[in-house]
Amino acid sequence: MAATPVMQLPVISECAAEGCAYNQEHTCHAVAITVGDVSNPTCDTFVSADMEGGEPSVTGRVGACKMADCRHNSSLECHAPSISVGYEQEQVDCLTYARA
Ligand code: SF4
Repeated sequence: MAATPVMQLPVISECAAEGCAYNQEHTCHAVAITVGDVSNPTCDTFVSADMEGGEPSVTGRVGACKMADCRHNSSLECHAPSISVGYEQEQVDCLTYARA
């Protein structure tokens, strides 16, 4: 039986949202984030809380993305090699988002 190729989740190369509980020195430590609210590429995992979240030994990856109109998106999964996250106006967004 042929092995099914396992998709590598895109790594978050940088996240500028220092106010997020998962962020340490511009690195996201959430194991898998969700991006998008269907019409905006916001980081849906962002949480401004007075506690440390995530797994310090891992760099965050994109678990799912709801931006179906992004050129990196297929079946609501991100296929970009990596993404960066940061502020767009007042919002924390996927900065790699590009409309197809
Ligand atoms: S690059 Fe596109 S598909 Fe990937 S997380 Fe960002 S908005 Fe979603």
